[in-house]
Amino acid sequence: MNKESTVENVRVFVRVRPFNFLEGNSGLRQVVSVEENEAVLVTKPNTAKTYKKSYNFSKVFDISATQMDVYRTVAVPIVEKLFEGYNGTIFAYGQSGTGKTYTMIGDTLKDPQKGIIPNIFSHIFSEISVANNDMSYLVTVTYLEIYNEEVRDLLADDANKKLAIRERTDVGVYVKDLLGFTVDSMESVNDLLNRGNKNRAIGSTKLNALSSRSHAILTVAVESKNKSTNTAKFGKLNLVDLAGSERVSKSQATGERLREAGKINLSLSVLGNVISALVDQSTTHIPYRNSKLTRLLQDSLGGNSLTAMVAMVSASELDYDETINTLMYADRVK
Ligand code: ADP
Ligand code: MG
Repeated sequence: MNKESTVENVRVFVRVRPFNFLEGNSGLRQVVSVEENEAVLVTKPNTAKTYKKSYNFSKVFDISATQMDVYRTVAVPIVEKLFEGYNGTIFAYGQSGTGKTYTMIGDTLKDPQKGIIPNIFSHIFSEISVANNDMSYLVTVTYLEIYNEEVRDLLADDANKKLAIRERTDVGVYVKDLLGFTVDSMESVNDLLNRGNKNRAIGSTKLNALSSRSHAILTVAVESKNKSTNTAKFGKLNLVDLAGSERVSKSQATGERLREAGKINLSLSVLGNVISALVDQSTTHIPYRNSKLTRLLQDSLGGNSLTAMVAMVSASELDYDETINTLMYADRVK
């Protein structure tokens, strides 16, 4: 069945964020450039040394790429499969401030700024509106956060409550008491997104660190029923805004923050191990169980599922080290 797929099961992309107003006005050099949509060149500040990463990426989006460019290339092939009953996952990876949330959500109301998530829902609702009368659909949303290896429901009245991960042979891995909401319009989706985003990283005290220390997973499930043949298909898509990948310097971080950083590093490295094990056909053991993130996504990673990762980088010379780290990570997962 999977042979008909025209899309690779695991694709890795890079997106370069344009300079913001401050960067543009501070005389900083842009050290990242893109070659033929598929290679990234990073010049080491104050040297002529250039680091180049290429062929493993499905595509590299340069600073001029629009939200729609990214949506079409990264998400559309996966959304189309959702209606056929396939699962999929899209990850936004990268240092804080490089555009993970912008890429996944963006501005939900202003069209050119809409990110992957609002565009996916528009696609789903328009697909449903043109379907024939034999079909009926149920679209359900859950939105959770993993912070310090603890799971919280971003849509619950009490978003502070820690939820348990359970496993049953009939349903697989699931989060106990996680609320699912049925949606049938962009208004209902936007309401849920706004509510969930307000609840992100409750545990954080520093304002600027609000959402960057947690992984947020928005899951949309589509059940398509054909009334005349009495058959149903069920597809699930996970949209994951990962915690910032930046290394926290040990001299700066204290107690809580250091433990938190350790957990983030661990879960991101487990994720990298899982994806690279999926790509490497010779590996039989996939270490899903080594983090909450991979455990929860287990049924949507591997097999017939489609996975895409967008690794975000800044173009600034100040972020050189993190940019190299991100490209090495993105290169290694494939
Ligand atoms: P992250 O979630 O990785 O911490 P954000 O998505 O919050 O980063 O992006 C940081 C800032 O940069 C935001 O103000 C965002 O609007 C802006 N930004 C990110 N990517 C782009 C882009 N491709 N084009 C324009 N602005 C962007
Ligand atoms: Mg963010």
